[in-house]
Amino acid sequence: MKEYKVDNLTIIWQPEKCTHAGVCSATLPNVYFPKERPWIRPENATVEELKNQINLCPSGALSFRED
Ligand code: SF4
Repeated sequence: MKEYKVDNLTIIWQPEKCTHAGVCSATLPNVYFPKERPWIRPENATVEELKNQINLCPSGALSFRED
């Protein structure tokens, strides 16, 4: 499990659940870079955009927590 923080939002990614469907990178191409490390750059979108996108992840690999 990996965590990526931006402002009061923590994005949680569980790689074992990810089906690599690519919905995340298709929805927010400036945030998700599947071939690079770190592959999530949450500073490139607003918290609202990130939350909306995370809710679209079909496998539940992406989730978030607000601190
Ligand atoms: S949308 Fe979810 S399941 Fe699809 S590649 Fe992104 S993290 Fe993985």
